[in-house]
Amino acid sequence: MSLLTIGGKAIHRGTKEIVSVPVTKDLGVEINIKAHILAGRHEGPTFLLLSMLHGEEWFSMLILRELVRIIDLNELRGNIIAIPVANTSAFNTGTRCVMDNSDEPDANRAFGGEYQWLTNQITRVIDEEFMSKSDYMIDYHVGTWGCTMADIGYGADYPDPKLSEISREMALAYQFPVIHQMKLNKGTHSKRTSMGRAALHHSIPAIVPEIGGLGFGENIEKAWLEDNIRGIMGNLKYLGMIDGEPDYCDKYLFVGDYWRVSPKNGGYLEPVIGLDRQFTRVEKGELLARVIDPETFEVLEELRSPGEGAIFYTCRSYMTRPGGWAYGIACLEDDNSYWASK
Ligand SMILES: [Zn+2]
Repeated sequence: MSLLTIGGKAIHRGTKEIVSVPVTKDLGVEINIKAHILAGRHEGPTFLLLSMLHGEEWFSMLILRELVRIIDLNELRGNIIAIPVANTSAFNTGTRCVMDNSDEPDANRAFGGEYQWLTNQITRVIDEEFMSKSDYMIDYHVGTWGCTMADIGYGADYPDPKLSEISREMALAYQFPVIHQMKLNKGTHSKRTSMGRAALHHSIPAIVPEIGGLGFGENIEKAWLEDNIRGIMGNLKYLGMIDGEPDYCDKYLFVGDYWRVSPKNGGYLEPVIGLDRQFTRVEKGELLARVIDPETFEVLEELRSPGEGAIFYTCRSYMTRPGGWAYGIACLEDDNSYWASK
């Protein structure tokens, strides 16, 4: 097995270290990517875990912090590369996208780019320095403050169907009850995400877990953290990187088509259906939330379910912008979404 080399540094078995890979120099600041490299004592694959390509989704940093803390290198076969802050530029401004007036401000829509925008350079380093040396990948996209996501995305249309099957198995071994089938060949948008790049350029089985969000209180967020750690351990078992067999859910909601219900107006989003109704059924037209004008206190709009479905991502009350995150509802009006066992 060739030795793993990151940022020109040879990584030795049984070591845990942080490697900083330079990206570019912005006005007055160096942009780099810091990766925790956990090199197991035993031979095995390399598993890349990315977090915060979007700069305000910092819940996933907590997942990687806990993972780095608990991994026992004596038991690990292969390497884990954990990048808590993939996009330091957007993190620095607390925003999803990079604030540089570029025409490709979203790092998770900038993979494979030909220009020198910050997002092109950040994703190029991820691509060349990390993805190209990895066998499997997780890229986290969790809720921002005020909303929580709740699904595991897998790639359904790898050119090699065997890789789609591995991606699906990774999603199932995450042991979370909502599985979202992602189409990576659809349009230009999907191809330029981390998943699209991993699937179509590197042939790496990958998943996108979206469990968790911010602003829901320590107890709830701790439970989401535990869900994610269980999911990573399930994946390490499935991939043979640690001993044991993954556990699975009794039933999963396989999401095909879904509605993203978002406010048209900015305002105070006041849920009628909150976290306690997650994974339950809603009827067509059922009231989900109201958006209140922060100056006049009038109801600006009501958010209602577009059809019969199952809620998977939800929100708490918060001040939202037009198009902000509110609800994700799996459409149960056709056969594309359904509850089933593994
Ligand atoms: Zn994201």
